[in-house]
Amino acid sequence: MFSKQRHIPMEKEEVKVLIIGSGSAGYTAAIYAARAGLKPVLYTGAQPGGQLTITNDVENFPGYPEGINGPQMMVDLQKQAERFGTKVSYGMVTSVDFSGYPLKVTVDETEEVTAGSVIIATGATAKYLGIPSEEKFANKGVSACAVCDGFFYRGKEVAVVGAGDSAAEESTYLANMCTKVHLIVRRSEMRASKIMQARVMKTPNIEVHWNTETDEILGDESGVTGARVVNNKTGEKKILPVQGFFLAIGHQPNTGIFKKYINMDETGYIKVTPGTTNTNVEGVFAVGDAADKVYRQAITAAGTGCMGALDAEKFLVAKELEIVE
Ligand code: NDP
Repeated sequence: MFSKQRHIPMEKEEVKVLIIGSGSAGYTAAIYAARAGLKPVLYTGAQPGGQLTITNDVENFPGYPEGINGPQMMVDLQKQAERFGTKVSYGMVTSVDFSGYPLKVTVDETEEVTAGSVIIATGATAKYLGIPSEEKFANKGVSACAVCDGFFYRGKEVAVVGAGDSAAEESTYLANMCTKVHLIVRRSEMRASKIMQARVMKTPNIEVHWNTETDEILGDESGVTGARVVNNKTGEKKILPVQGFFLAIGHQPNTGIFKKYINMDETGYIKVTPGTTNTNVEGVFAVGDAADKVYRQAITAAGTGCMGALDAEKFLVAKELEIVE
């Protein structure tokens, strides 16, 4: 599998396992790599803790019967990773050079670090509409994850914005627990697959608002109380009486800096060999949402983080054996 090139002596500062990203995928990779004695170095990136730091309560991560606060969970994961010897650095990896081996990454545009293996755990960022009230009511009724936060709106009326598979899936998910779901679609048709659209149309408590855009999210100190929407064909405005406002207009994987070397799909999600975390570059592994556009859950990210550490360990052992040969 590996080329028979002679081993290049490692410089002093080289790390065996370099992890980029500090969400549940990155920290889980760190815990496993550290417990394997690989002394991983983890660079947190611009948003230490990742997407869970913008969530209130996490109630679907196994092992927390009473749920856990998202930021607290990330603090705990960091402590657990450090307990076994992970070095956590508050740096941002700004570029990489995967053209040779060892692998090279540049941190904060200045510091170059070489690594025996790299685990990409940079996650994805939910897209938002960009209206000010969205930020104002973040975590107070505005959410970009129905599976994470939908439960808090059971028995209430909610809105979902979007027209892709995520919007269709999240609307039908929310319809099971909410009295009514308003699906706000900006065109006269949905982009979602036919089967997902059929599910939406068959669900009696989903109302689709075609050619409709969000003008403003309304609320007070208690949180969201409504959404003012406008029909972009007629100009007619109306207020939807919702307490939850869910964005499902896509995610952007944070993978731009790897583009030159790593195979991705057309939207930037990293392609891995199915059943592994292997990318097309030897020694580079991708875990979590950066390589997952379907499940995108903290627990699935953690699961692939574990896989990434095990794959990296296996790779490093094979590389060592190659030196002996
Ligand atoms: P998509 O990019 O497929 O869809 C985004 C949707 O949001 C589009 O319909 C788009 O509208 C709409 N949108 C974008 N910006 C705005 C805006 N500013 N205002 C209003 N609407 C907006 O993202 P998804 O997250 O739905 O899906 C991403 C990928 O993941 C897809 O390949 C999908 O198939 C896959 N997926 C698969 C699932 C499954 O198989 N179970 C579940 C979820 C996702 P417009 O159509 O007008 O451009």
